[in-house]
Amino acid sequence: MEEYEESIRKNLDGVRARMKAAAVASGRDPAQILLLAATKTVPVEQINFAARECGLTDIGENKVQELLAKYDGYDKERLRIHFIGRLQRNKVKYIIDKVCLIHSLDSFELAAEIDRQAKKHGIVMDTLVEINAGKEKNKGGIPIEELPAFLEKIRPFDGIRVKGLMTVAPNCETPEEYLRYFQEIYEKFLDIWKEKPHNREGYSLSMGMSDSFEQAIACGSSLIRVGSAIFGRRDYGAAAPRT
Ligand SMILES: *Cc1c(COP(=O)(O)O)cnc(C)c1O
Repeated sequence: MEEYEESIRKNLDGVRARMKAAAVASGRDPAQILLLAATKTVPVEQINFAARECGLTDIGENKVQELLAKYDGYDKERLRIHFIGRLQRNKVKYIIDKVCLIHSLDSFELAAEIDRQAKKHGIVMDTLVEINAGKEKNKGGIPIEELPAFLEKIRPFDGIRVKGLMTVAPNCETPEEYLRYFQEIYEKFLDIWKEKPHNREGYSLSMGMSDSFEQAIACGSSLIRVGSAIFGRRDYGAAAPRT
């Protein structure tokens, strides 16, 4: 495992260097971009190693069951936990008091349940609306054209604070394709948040993964979700990660 931890350290350094270069190249302040490590299938010991030894501050899980199984073990003094996967309504109650941001709000029913559970806990839950601009059927998210109406519809839910947008890009063949995809989302994001000037400060645009974070940063991403570039390619069906 020591070898695995050394590779995590090296990979994190590499990702941070590439983030910084991508930010500088597009005239952005690198400090404005948050690195979230996508930790599916990564054992909690290695997650905590990255927090303790490499300054990792934010992680994202995409399965409720896995998050709950690891929850007691996370170094919660050092880590903020995000939920980045598809969220079923009946599972909101398990994570509402454990995560700082839900990235995958994509239906009215889910919003209603998050609102209900948040009020039960006396909190306001930060969320991102997930956009499926590639209109892929097996993926979560709402079509980008429906965003204004969706935001309007969920506005009465004061147990929810919408902080921005999240997207999982379709698999693209070239950097240019990613750029086109992310640019479209960014323009929409600006349109919407222009009308919410009170909320410009804490806004968040969660886009970019291992194979696309540099393009996402060039297109205004404020939060990238990186898994395999840090933890190695993993077989998501297996119990332990391969390095
Ligand atoms: C796994 C995952 C990521 C990270 O993907 P990589 O390609 O491994 O960097 C980002 N976002 C979500 C929602 C994920 O499930």
